[in-house]
Amino acid sequence: MAYLGWTGHYTRMRRITQLAFFAIFALLPALDLFRFDFIAGKLFVFRQQIWLDEWTLVWLGLMFGMWIIGAMTLVLGRVWCAWACPQMVFSELAHDIDALAKRITRKLSDSRRRLAKRLVSHGLVAVLSIVATALFMGYFAPLGEVFRRMARFDVGLWLGAIGVTTTILVVLDLLFVRETFCQSVCPYGLLQGVLVDEKSLHVTFDESAGACIDCGLCERVCNMEIDIRKSAFQMECTRCGNCIDVCNLVLAKKKRPGLLAYSFGFGRGMTWDIKRLLVAVSTAGFGIVFIVAVAMREPLTFHISPVYGTTASAEERVAEAKYLLRAANKGSEPVTVALTVEGLPADATVDGLADGRIPAGEERKFTISIKVPRSEVTSSVVPFTAIIKSEERSERFAMTFYAGGNRT
Ligand code: SF4
Ligand code: SF4
Repeated sequence: MAYLGWTGHYTRMRRITQLAFFAIFALLPALDLFRFDFIAGKLFVFRQQIWLDEWTLVWLGLMFGMWIIGAMTLVLGRVWCAWACPQMVFSELAHDIDALAKRITRKLSDSRRRLAKRLVSHGLVAVLSIVATALFMGYFAPLGEVFRRMARFDVGLWLGAIGVTTTILVVLDLLFVRETFCQSVCPYGLLQGVLVDEKSLHVTFDESAGACIDCGLCERVCNMEIDIRKSAFQMECTRCGNCIDVCNLVLAKKKRPGLLAYSFGFGRGMTWDIKRLLVAVSTAGFGIVFIVAVAMREPLTFHISPVYGTTASAEERVAEAKYLLRAANKGSEPVTVALTVEGLPADATVDGLADGRIPAGEERKFTISIKVPRSEVTSSVVPFTAIIKSEERSERFAMTFYAGGNRT
């Protein structure tokens, strides 16, 4: 396979786009814009923490993501693969490393060059793999923590095992697999066959401006090792544009236009049909519902329930009942919660919430003890209201005070 590097209009545009996506790939988890924290069991979306018990939001987010990928494939074919996918970005960086190793070692004698080139390229691929693994792991654990631990060689057994295994897989991938993965096993590549049709973006071959000189370069620069002249409908084509660039370059020397070009609907342009309308409406629908659901979610939730199994003797002068208060702070700021009661005698005391501070992203449980002088309890069962408050909100719960304790 011939490698274009940074030569050609679309190739340069694509490499710049790849670098932009590489920066996005690195920044998404670092800025908590998107990552799944395995340790905390939380999904971070645009700095909002979505807890696993909020499964509807997680499901909506996944559906929205899948629909976006589907809509993009329907319109643009496999353009994601060549222009943005980390597998292709790192594969092409590995090609850059090969070219660099070749340049660095070109002045060595024949006998030394081969070994030196291998050492340089394999060493740089190993460094690239460690960086890729660290960035990838940032999607499942806080990135700063991953780097701090790597710097201290203190990653622990599990993190270390996952990191070493992933690095080895990435090294093997970048040394021996690269674009073969995209040709053969990638599930997104297989999905394309279902979604792409004649109205999608294709690379088309058109000899109306002059005949093909059959130089074969379009096939040689193709990462997917296909000859696009045979048919625009080839599942492997990632719309990378390498073949377009090389054809333009080779025919420019003969003062002729290239024979390959991007085109929607084989020159008819982008048109709508019922399939596209349905995909657009459902993608927008999932997006709107997801954004509204995230915006409306309550970042602070309370739950209070009696602690059963406690008893109190009728002879005691104070009747006591216990309750378990669970407060979950899913927001990004700490909050302080307080509890008051309505409907119990004025002398009733509420203990257990002296320090009601809940750090951001944490849940705390408090055992609340409510005591009422027995002389003021007129019935063994007294309905009351528990009011749980924070700086932001308050919620009322209808509760029952059992003067003899909360028996099972
Ligand atoms: S056929 Fe052309 S656009 Fe398609 S993958 Fe090969 S080089 Fe890229
Ligand atoms: S690069 Fe252009 S001229 Fe050369 S074989 Fe391909 S289509 Fe023909």
